[in-house]
Amino acid sequence: MRLKRLEISGFKSFAKKSVILFEAPISAIVGPNGSGKSNVAESIRFALGEQSIKSLRGKRGEDLIWNGSKTTPRSNLGSVSLVFDNTKKIFEYDYDEISLRRDVHRDGINEYFINNSQVRLKDIHELLSRVNIGASSHHIISQGEADRVLSANPKERRAMVEEALGLKIYQWKIAESEKKLDKTEENIKQVESLRKEIAPHIKFLKKQVEKIEQGKAMQDELGSLYAEYLKKEEGYLKRKKTEIESRKKPLQEELKSLEKSLEEARRKISESATKNEKGGALVELEKNIEKARQKRDEIGRRLGRIEGMIELEEKRLQKSGDKGEERKTVPLAEISAFASELDNLLNEAHKTEDISFVRDTIKKIKELVRGLISKSEKGAEMKDEIETAIKNLKSEKSTLEKELAEVSEEEKKLEALYRAIRGEIEAEKDSSRDTEKEIFKMMGKKAEISASLSSIGSNEELLLREEEIFKEEIKEGGVLVGRSILNYREYILEVSFEAESREIQGERRKKIEKIKIRLEDLDGGGEDVLKEYQEVFERDKFLENELQDLESGKESLKSLIAELAVKLDHDFKEGVNKINSQFQDFFALMFGGGEASLSLVAEKKKKKSDYSLEMEDYDAIDENEDIEEGIEINISLPRKKIRGLQMLSGGERALTSIALIFALSQVNPPPFLVLDETDAALDEANSRKYGDMLENLSKHSQLIVITHNRETMSRAGILYGITMGQDAASKLLSVKFDEAVEIAK
Ligand code: ATP
Repeated sequence: MRLKRLEISGFKSFAKKSVILFEAPISAIVGPNGSGKSNVAESIRFALGEQSIKSLRGKRGEDLIWNGSKTTPRSNLGSVSLVFDNTKKIFEYDYDEISLRRDVHRDGINEYFINNSQVRLKDIHELLSRVNIGASSHHIISQGEADRVLSANPKERRAMVEEALGLKIYQWKIAESEKKLDKTEENIKQVESLRKEIAPHIKFLKKQVEKIEQGKAMQDELGSLYAEYLKKEEGYLKRKKTEIESRKKPLQEELKSLEKSLEEARRKISESATKNEKGGALVELEKNIEKARQKRDEIGRRLGRIEGMIELEEKRLQKSGDKGEERKTVPLAEISAFASELDNLLNEAHKTEDISFVRDTIKKIKELVRGLISKSEKGAEMKDEIETAIKNLKSEKSTLEKELAEVSEEEKKLEALYRAIRGEIEAEKDSSRDTEKEIFKMMGKKAEISASLSSIGSNEELLLREEEIFKEEIKEGGVLVGRSILNYREYILEVSFEAESREIQGERRKKIEKIKIRLEDLDGGGEDVLKEYQEVFERDKFLENELQDLESGKESLKSLIAELAVKLDHDFKEGVNKINSQFQDFFALMFGGGEASLSLVAEKKKKKSDYSLEMEDYDAIDENEDIEEGIEINISLPRKKIRGLQMLSGGERALTSIALIFALSQVNPPPFLVLDETDAALDEANSRKYGDMLENLSKHSQLIVITHNRETMSRAGILYGITMGQDAASKLLSVKFDEAVEIAK
């Protein structure tokens, strides 16, 4: 790679555009004091992204822009381009030339360009660190800065050495990875706290879901119990019905024909009724008895119905009683819904400063509390309603019972009278009474049949009641089991109802009741809960996976950092050894002997990450105990007993630092090296040695020297003279050696 040219315009003393071509391994820039030579070195640093305005000898960005003179107006833009040859594709770009440009505007804004495309400063840094050039680094030695490497502290020195060795890229990667690590740890904490937040909700929902599942199992059990129960019950009721029908029908038919015969007989009697008062009275009595009997039957039936209703209501009362009690305590699910609603409202209110919002919230809370209380009262209200109904039914029952007693009494009286008259008639042993006798017989028979029918009637009533209970059961069961309850007929019975006693069916019914109560008590919530649980569960699972990813990301970052640290440490130590051997050589050359070396010294450091540590040790080290290795310079001059740097003369300091700078450059040669009057303090003999070293160095790095030194000038392949005219702007011209010597004066 080669630095091809530098274009300066509007930067510092360069009012107009000046182009310096670096066409030789050593280019020298010469000129009188104050002509703008150092501005050239600074323009290079500026283009490379130097951020310290102070180090460019300014206070603000504006100070870097041509400020105008009496004859030339000031510029609004300072611009420097540094152009590299890239035919060997050392920069990872597919161009033969790479130009880095930086503009500074009067408002202090800086813009960066690579081949005229605007980029970020970061991109410039990254590009340069890959080719071993840093902004404020070792390879631009500013005027008077030659001994910067000597005056720096061990830690700063280490940084310089690291940069010279091209290790900045590792540090940069380590810093990036550490940033990522911090971010990852932060994310881990966030995800963990999110999981912690939803954990109680999941636990609650899980319990609800368990209840729902338990409920479902109970529902299934109830469903099959119901199916068996209903199928058997239906069979039983049907059989009972046909039994009743088959008993009732012949009796009804017999009754019908009896009534017909009676009618006939009565007609006969009534024909002779006028001559027979007793017979007429008897017919009349008979009619009344019939009426009384019918009335009694009717009342009996009504009584039966009412008893059935009372039974049903009492069952309801018992149930509502159970519920009523439960309501008073209010089920847990409702309490927890109430509590979470209350919590929400209070949280909202807590957050706000708005008093009217707080009032609103209080109103809402009141309603919420009222709602809860009314929920607990509803059960009691229902209970009252049923109790009133039962009371009414019972009083109706007792009225009917009274009526029944009265009508039975009446019937008995009529029958007694009837028997008396009949006795009298029979005693008369009159042949004309044959028909009447017939009637007596038929009446007796009829009474018998009626009695049988009445008993069948009450059986029928009973059956009706049982049928009602059956229907009610389907309805009730349907609420808990669902429509599938209607499929009970498809249930395959192992034992038919005929083969089983009614008690077993009774037991079954009791079992059904028990499950129903337990099911009603369960109350786990509906499909919503299942859906919510599924959602929350999946979210938690997602977070868990994310956490795993983050943890493994964290581990790989840690091991990457450790690997980089090991690599850095290794390359650093190896680099220092190489520098040392060069340093020793240059030093001995400059001083005609003596010893010079760099050594690592331990320093305590506050920040974490000591690059020399192994992965396992990385976490174990207390931050304050971290040891950082700085660099110390050890020298001993030939024939002199001087050991410390501070004891050196100005010239000796210059020689030492030159030896070190050159050693650094030799180990990992930078693409170019700018030396701004580094040779200022050298005497003639040393100037020659310096010149030799320059030529040596120029084999690996392009050199740009700013100098007043004749010897140095003589080594340059190309010479530029800088002068400053009346307009106070720097002027650049290519000169011959003799001209250069002249200009430099
Ligand atoms: P020496 O040989 O004494 O070190 P030099 O040749 O290195 O001198 P520089 O320090 O590069 O000289 O240049 C300094 C000159 O640049 C001064 O005359 C200064 O006024 C001028 N200068 C610096 N900044 C600006 C600016 N913004 N506008 C105009 N001139 C400027």
